[in-house]
Order: sequence, then C-alpha cells, then structure tokens
Amino acid sequence: MRAVQSYQAAESRSRRADVVVIGAGIVGLASAYELASRKLKVYVLEGGEPGIGQSTRNWGFVRQQGRAVEELPIMIEANGMWQELPGRLGADLEWVQGGNLRLTDQPERADDYLRWIETARALGLDSRVVTADEVARIVPGFTGQFALAIFTPSDGQANPGKVIGSYLRAFESEGGEVYTGSPAREVVTAGGRVVGVRTHDGFIASSSVVVAAGTGSGALLRKLGCQVPVHFVSQTVALTEPVPRLTDACVWTGQVGFRQTANGQVLLSSGGRGEVVLDTASLGSLLSLRQLRQAVPMYWKNREYLQIRPRAVLSTVGSTRRSSYLDGEVRYDDVEGALATMAAYFPGRQWRPISAWAGTIDGTPDALPILDVVGPGGGVIVATGMSGHGFGIAPAVGRIVADLVTAGHSHHDLWPFRLRRFVEGAANPPQHLL
Ligand SMILES: Cc1cc2nc3c(=O)[nH]c(=O)nc-3n(C[C@H](O)[C@H](O)[C@H](O)COP(=O)(O)OP(=O)(O)OC[C@H]3O[C@@H](n4cnc5c(N)ncnc54)[C@H](O)[C@@H]3O)c2cc1C
Repeated sequence: MRAVQSYQAAESRSRRADVVVIGAGIVGLASAYELASRKLKVYVLEGGEPGIGQSTRNWGFVRQQGRAVEELPIMIEANGMWQELPGRLGADLEWVQGGNLRLTDQPERADDYLRWIETARALGLDSRVVTADEVARIVPGFTGQFALAIFTPSDGQANPGKVIGSYLRAFESEGGEVYTGSPAREVVTAGGRVVGVRTHDGFIASSSVVVAAGTGSGALLRKLGCQVPVHFVSQTVALTEPVPRLTDACVWTGQVGFRQTANGQVLLSSGGRGEVVLDTASLGSLLSLRQLRQAVPMYWKNREYLQIRPRAVLSTVGSTRRSSYLDGEVRYDDVEGALATMAAYFPGRQWRPISAWAGTIDGTPDALPILDVVGPGGGVIVATGMSGHGFGIAPAVGRIVADLVTAGHSHHDLWPFRLRRFVEGAANPPQHLL
C-alpha cells in the first residue's frame, strides 16, 4: 500500500508517457520509432549517448546468412525493411545490397555450411555455394585458399553511425523525446502493474516499458526478479585509409571479416574473434550452476573464436565495477593480425589503419535474442541479448516490440526467444554459423 501511495505522489510530480524505452541503441531507437509512428507518446532514456554501446561500434553487416533457423524469419523480414529504410527515415544510410560472402578452409565447417544452405533455401533465401571464379568476381584480387564458399546476394551493409542518427531524427520528428545521460535506475511496479521508470533525476510514469539496454538490460531485469544469463564478449574493429574499390560484399573468411565503406575505407575485424569478458558485471550474470552449464557448450562450440585471456580475468580481480555498457579493450594484436591476413590475401595492396575500437556484445547461451513480455501485468517488453546480430535484425525487432506494446502479440513465433527458456533448461547450444 505504501508503495502505491509513494508511486502516486511521485506520479503527480512526474512526466508521463505511453511507453518508456530504456536504451538508445539501434534496438531501442528502432522500437521507439515504430511506436512513435503509431502515434504513441514515447520517451527514450539513454545512460550515455545514442549508439554509444554496440550500435555504432559494429561492422555494419546486415546478414541473413548463417543465422539460426529460429531467427531467420525475423531476419528475412528485417532485410526487406532495410531496403525501404533509407526512404522511410529520409536519409542516406549507405545501404548497399552487395551480398554476404563466407569462406572456410576447414572441411568440418564446410559440412555445417552445406547443411545451413539447405535450411536457408527451404525458407526461400537466395544463399548458394559459389565457385572460385564467382569468388574472384565478388572480391577481385583475393588470393586466399578455401574449401567452400557460400554467398547470399540479398544481404547488405549500412553505416551504423548514420543509421543511429537517422533513427533518432525520425523518432524525434514523430514527436518522440530522448533523454541522454539519463540512466534508468529501476522499472517501478505497484499494485501488480508497471507504473513507470525511476531515473537519476526523477520518475517517468508509464504502464509500458521496453528494456533494450544491451549489456545494461540484465541489471534492470534482475530488479524485477528475472535472471538474464547474458555473457559479454569484446571484439576489436579497425578502419583503414581508403583503398581503390575492393568489393561491395561483406566478407568473412574465418581469419578476417571485412567490408568497404562508401568512401573506400575498409572495416576489418580479426576473423570475428571475440574475447570473453570476465569482469564482475559479466560474471554476475553467470553465477549460477544452471547458467554456467548453458554457457559452457556455447564457448566450446565456438572455442576457435572465443578466447578467455588471463589478462581479462586478472585485470578485473578486486574490481567492483558493474558497468552497464563496457568499453571493450582494443586488442592491437588482433588489428595487426587482421592487417597481416589482408596483406597475404591481396598481394601488392597497402593497408594503413587509421583507427581501432572495441565493442562489447551481449550474448545469450543459445546466441538467440530475448524477445518477451515480462513483469507484473505484462508491462515490460524485453528486446535484448542480440548476441552479435542486433544491427541487422533491429528494424524487424522494432516492429515486433511495437506489435507487443500495441496488440500484445507478434505475427512471428516468439516462443524460441522467451526469457524463461534459460530457467526451463530449454536453451540449446547455438545452431547458427558464427
Ligand atoms: C564489434 C562488434 C561488431 C558487430 N558487428 C555486427 C554486424 O556486423 N552485424 C550485426 O547485425 N550486429 C553486429 N554486432 C552486434 C550489434 O552491434 C548489436 O547486437 C546491436 O547493436 C545491439 O543493439 P542494442 O540496442 O540491443 O544494444 P546497444 O547498442 O548496446 O545499446 C544499448 C544502450 O542502452 C544504454 N543503457 C544501458 N543501460 C542503461 C540504463 N540503465 N539506462 C539507460 N540506458 C542504458 C547503453 O548506453 C546503450 O546505448 C556487432 C557488435 C560488436 C560489438
């Protein structure tokens, strides 16, 4: 009763929204934009700056290729939305539908790729095995060796910074408001329902709250009694000086991932290699036997790409930091490795790095997102744990979130993405191709 009274007192002094979205990454902004387009009053709370988490640090690949079968219908819808997004947002997003090329020199991986192609084709995707001649046409001058190559022509890429800025402007022009430097402290419930969000400087009343806070979602959801077994993986990205036209495709070879930007620069990542972050915030979300049991098979399957480096463990011993959006540590050895691989692939070309950064991915044990409605009265919509896929899939996730808020359901089957799968022990090791 006291909680209801203090909420009522706070509410009389507070701002009021139809929906509060926590997190101005691409998932939060896409959701906020879809909601505001439906004429709802929407506030976005962002602890830092829009896109400061993963959403401006990523590679900008918009790929269906390699996604798990559960996720593919949503990703296929997202791909269709990307084609219309520059028009909808009224902005140049540097969207290029140049396809996604994936190579492997490992016969056991090649079998996985072939199995995945069959699944994708059954869903109507244009993915196919390509010959060495086709690879030479897609990436002229590439000399790397490979056992198998697959290509999805309908995949694309976009500029993450431009996408974030454009979603933000489009949301604001629909009447939405973004509060930056304004972390949400807590989703407040009273009388068996969600009543709003407590921020560092007040309260926003709302019966609907979207938690899209990336690596910060777990801490918010734990306060509502929901365990979110998300682990953090840090990845380093480098950008080179512009080079003559290389390719319109996004390419991933197992040793290096790259795409060329509109102005000719090349974005590089060391084979998608990630460093498992073992700090207090990350460990805090895994410290139950059940959650560790779910996470270990994921690490094992992807051990080639995921590394637990002693330095990462030692650097956090004694740390009490529980950061919600960690800046990953830039691995300059990864940058050097990626540049050396590119030099070997493209003899005679020069690769001069001009910047490097790291970002921290929020991964679930099955590498599938969490898309669910939780909390008392179903007032909390969760869209988090994008597991390294969130840039490409975000437009469709935004639409799903808006459908959940306005209609209470989505036309997609969201059962595989429910939060309870982890406590039910129903989460399987990842089925997608890394
Ligand atoms: C190096 C790297 C490469 C990647 N490459 C790709 C790619 O090529 N293609 C692809 O599809 N995906 C890629 N990803 C993944 C993709 O970037 C993410 O899945 C996606 O950006 C997640 O978006 P988000 O909005 O859920 O999270 P974020 O972008 O992390 O946004 C969450 C936001 O919430 C804010 N926040 C946190 N806690 C609070 C709080 N309490 N109150 C208010 N705000 C809060 C944070 O400040 C942050 O801005 C990559 C990721 C990384 C790191």
